[in-house]
Amino acid sequence: MSCSIGTNPSFVWRSFMWSRPLLQKGLAWRVGDGSRIATIGEKWVFGKVAQLSSHLLLNDHNTVSCLIEHGKWNEHLVRQLFMPPQVDEVLSIPLFSSQATDQRFCIFDPKGNYTVQEGYKAEMGFFEPPTSSSTSHYSKWWKFIWSLSIPSKVRIFWWRVLHHFIPTQVNLRSHHVPVQGFCPLCHFHSDSTNHALFDCPAIISRWKVTEFWPLLKKVKHLDIWDIFIWLYDKLSVQEFEVFAMGTWAIWNDRLQFLHANDHRALSRGLEKSSDLLREFQSARMALQIVPRSSICVPPNSWSAPPTDHLRLDVDAAYNDSTKSYYWWGD
Ligand SMILES: [Zn+2]
Repeated sequence: MSCSIGTNPSFVWRSFMWSRPLLQKGLAWRVGDGSRIATIGEKWVFGKVAQLSSHLLLNDHNTVSCLIEHGKWNEHLVRQLFMPPQVDEVLSIPLFSSQATDQRFCIFDPKGNYTVQEGYKAEMGFFEPPTSSSTSHYSKWWKFIWSLSIPSKVRIFWWRVLHHFIPTQVNLRSHHVPVQGFCPLCHFHSDSTNHALFDCPAIISRWKVTEFWPLLKKVKHLDIWDIFIWLYDKLSVQEFEVFAMGTWAIWNDRLQFLHANDHRALSRGLEKSSDLLREFQSARMALQIVPRSSICVPPNSWSAPPTDHLRLDVDAAYNDSTKSYYWWGD
C-alpha cells in the first residue's frame, strides 16, 4: 500500500496505482491480536483512523498489540493515548482471543468483501440503498409489498429491511453508531441485514426445514435486494406472504433472545408465523367491505331532520357465506 508508481510504470501498474486511493478509503482492520495493525494511521476503530491525544508514547512502528495485555485492552494506556470520545470506542472493540489474527475488511460491503461492483458504487458515491419509496425504479417493488395480505407491522418491517433500517450491527455502523459490526448471535460474521435474517448459523436451521430453503440457500449471501427480487420471481404471492411473515418472526425472535432473555426464541419453528398469517387473513376476509352493489339503498334520498330534532341513520347486514354481521351508522 505504500509503493510508489516508479519512473516507467506499465499500464497495469498505473491502473493499480490509480485505484489505490479507493482501496485505502475502503479497507479497514478487524482487530485480532493487533500485531499487524499500526496504531497510527490505520483504520481499526470501527473503520476509522484512531484519534490520538498524545503521540509521545508511540512511534510509527507501534502496533495495536501494545495496547492489549493478556487478551484485554490496557485501559490505563488507552485513556492516556486517545481523545476522550474515542476511548470508549476503543475499549468496546471486542477481543475474542489473544491468538486471533488481524483481518482486513472492506467497509463498502456489508459482508466485508471487496468487489468491483461495490468499489464502483463507492467511487460514484451511490452505494447507499434506495431511500425513497417513490423512486420509480423501485415503485414496482413497493407496490408489491403494500399489496400483500400481511399485517401492517410486517409490511412496515419489510420496508425497513429493504432500506437497511433494521438495527443490525452493520446498519448501526453505517449510521455512525459506534458498534463493532459483528453478529451478536454467532459473534463471528459481519452482522449485515441478509446475515441477520437468512445466513447466521444461529438461525439457519429454522429456514432449512421450510419449503423456502432450496431457493434461499442459493442467494442468502447476497444483498437483501437481490434476495427479495429473486424470491419475488420464484414464489407465488401467497408463498411470498408466508415467507415475509417467517422473516419477520426470525427478526422478532432475535430481539426476544437478545433483549428479553428468551433462550428458546432461536429454536422455534416458523409454523407459528404461518398460523398467525392464516388467522390474520381469515379475520380480514370476515371483515372485508361488502361491495356497494350488494348494499340496499333506501328508496328515498336523505333529508335533513326538522329543526330541534336529531336524526340517526343505521343499517345492518348479514353475510351468510362468512356468517358475519355488518352495520353502519351516520
Ligand atoms: Zn451470526
